[in-house]
Amino acid sequence: MMPAAGVPRTGAPLAAHAEAAAGAAPYDVIRVRSDFPILQQKVHGKPLVYLDNAATSQKPRVVIEAISRYYETGNANIHRGVHYLSEHATEEHEAARKTVQQFLNARSPSEIIFVRGATEAINLVAQTYGRSRIGWGDEVLITGIEHHSNIVPWQMLCAEKGAALRVAPIDDNGDVLLDDFAALLGPRTKIAALTHVSNALGTVNPVRKMIEMAHQRNVPVLVDGAQAVPHLRVDMQNLGADFYVFSGHKVYGPTGIGVLYGKAELLDAMPPYQGGGDMILSVTFEKSTYNKIPYKFEAGTPDIAGAIGLGAALRYLSALGIERVAEHEHQLLEYATQSVSAIPELRVVGKAREKAGVLSFVLGSVHPHDIGTILDQDGIAIRTGHHCSQPVMRRFNIAATARASFALYNTREEIDALVRGIERVRRVFS
Ligand code: PLP
Repeated sequence: MMPAAGVPRTGAPLAAHAEAAAGAAPYDVIRVRSDFPILQQKVHGKPLVYLDNAATSQKPRVVIEAISRYYETGNANIHRGVHYLSEHATEEHEAARKTVQQFLNARSPSEIIFVRGATEAINLVAQTYGRSRIGWGDEVLITGIEHHSNIVPWQMLCAEKGAALRVAPIDDNGDVLLDDFAALLGPRTKIAALTHVSNALGTVNPVRKMIEMAHQRNVPVLVDGAQAVPHLRVDMQNLGADFYVFSGHKVYGPTGIGVLYGKAELLDAMPPYQGGGDMILSVTFEKSTYNKIPYKFEAGTPDIAGAIGLGAALRYLSALGIERVAEHEHQLLEYATQSVSAIPELRVVGKAREKAGVLSFVLGSVHPHDIGTILDQDGIAIRTGHHCSQPVMRRFNIAATARASFALYNTREEIDALVRGIERVRRVFS
């Protein structure tokens, strides 16, 4: 099977594609949609309108084909084999790592660790870096718009060590109060863990600035990029983050694979996370010595097909051009925000200075689950609930929101369908 036209094959440098995309024709969303087989179907007899992208994104054919090609022609375990298939699988796995490195503009592929997803990456940092460096009376600083996966691992660590979790508050728009953030960076702060983009509100945190503020006080920073990587250019050397995490499935790749980026000097100094095969250099019953990075953190057989699929997804996104995707999605968000503003009793939750991909709202006293159920009858998929961000909901004195979240294949017509659907909800409940 051939990759779709214009999509680079494994191993080709990514930068060239970004340049190619920059000079390419205007963004053609209809053509982009044809790359996604799942979008061609009907749900409840209506064309599928998929607006649940912050939960997980759909997969382009090139990703699906890369995974099935691997299982059809390339499946073998990596690193330990001398036979053809094993060597080939190892090369493909490492080529995927290289793709991630180029995508993030990390300095070296050894700074890219494959994990199951953003959640596992944060737990890894909490349990290795955190556990070895955080003690009684120390502090971990997060913000008021974190996903549970960037709260609970730190709470668990703090409980174990007698440390304290500090939270930088947000304002009524959903922006983090930077003065409070600065004031909370104290001599006891051992790490700051910040989301790049909020999944519940869409707020884009000014992470570069926040990293600078933290570094001025010698505080290292972990950035949760789960909702940023699909929508914005993220450049490790420009951002200066010490750790950056994301999940493959939110950026058009498969589930079960994600990335922890870490600065080499930090990763080198950290103890391993899990013990097992591949993460060792030598083992005796008395003592084991550990492999170099990134392998020190990749115990056991990894998700080889997942890494290859993720590589294909990042190549696909790079070939389209992340700036063009960002512009398309920005226009969609503006159009959607404007369109829903005319609906009586609808209140948008989250009006940050800069937003990406997410429109959260409540509609009078209608329960968000009822909104989601009625929209589903129209073939429209949105998410309703607390979005794994219960403290955010509490901040706005609500239990839940309805959330439409956008991706590179969504259209204005789909937003029109959403608005018609919400109007139908109003009629049902009036
Ligand atoms: N961080 C943010 C901001 C998220 O939105 C999510 C998932 O929704 C996660 C972390 C966790 O990602 P995963 O469940 O893929 O590990």
